[in-house]
Amino acid sequence: MPPNWSAILRHNVWQYERLDRKQRERLDAWVRVFHAERNWEGCDGLELTDEIRVTIAGQAGLIVLGHEDWYFDRTPSILVYPDDYVARDVARPAGGGLTIVGDESRLGEAWYRGPVILSWPDVLEGGQSSNGGHNLVIHEFAHQLDMIGDPEADGEPPMPDVETAEYWREIVPEEFERLCRACGSGQPTLLDCYGASSPAEFFSVASEVFFQRPAALRVRHPQLYEAFRRFYRLDPEQWLGA
Ligand SMILES: [Zn+2]
Repeated sequence: MPPNWSAILRHNVWQYERLDRKQRERLDAWVRVFHAERNWEGCDGLELTDEIRVTIAGQAGLIVLGHEDWYFDRTPSILVYPDDYVARDVARPAGGGLTIVGDESRLGEAWYRGPVILSWPDVLEGGQSSNGGHNLVIHEFAHQLDMIGDPEADGEPPMPDVETAEYWREIVPEEFERLCRACGSGQPTLLDCYGASSPAEFFSVASEVFFQRPAALRVRHPQLYEAFRRFYRLDPEQWLGA
């Protein structure tokens, strides 16, 4: 890996330095493949740089580190905008076979078997710190996991094994209902109330918090943390103690 790529990852993927050596080597290798195999497009005059590509690849790769062969193969392109205007101006296809999961307030989108669209300043914000639990790249790539084999994005990505699926179905729908109730009654919540808008948004929002604020999630929602730990096959809370 070019030496400046490590510097980019250290700077723009705050978890990077906390990974153990084996995980870091895996992420380095993952970033090389993802960087090379995807179509990258700068939109609205944004000139793409290696910093942009490597930063996005590093954050996306972080969430699939626990699975040997997950490369977001069905995400052919990553489109990057210099600011937030994309989310307001993107046309919504009516019908046409594409499902769009759009997040105007979060400045990114993920399309079924299509691109992920991201606003570069927001990518940086979530990459350089825990950012109150928000991370745009993790949010949109979690949607991509959710949409593998399921264009409707129902909040349950393909499960790695039967036991994980059973535990997931026991815990996650109930946690979604819990967030809906808390948000409906104005109680403070760890998870952003955007996650109460659908099970799909719940999965993406909870994924953000799992990787950005793992200790808080484990303390306040231990079973939800455990469901995500089993699904992602990662334990991000350990990185905090490293
Ligand atoms: Zn979303």
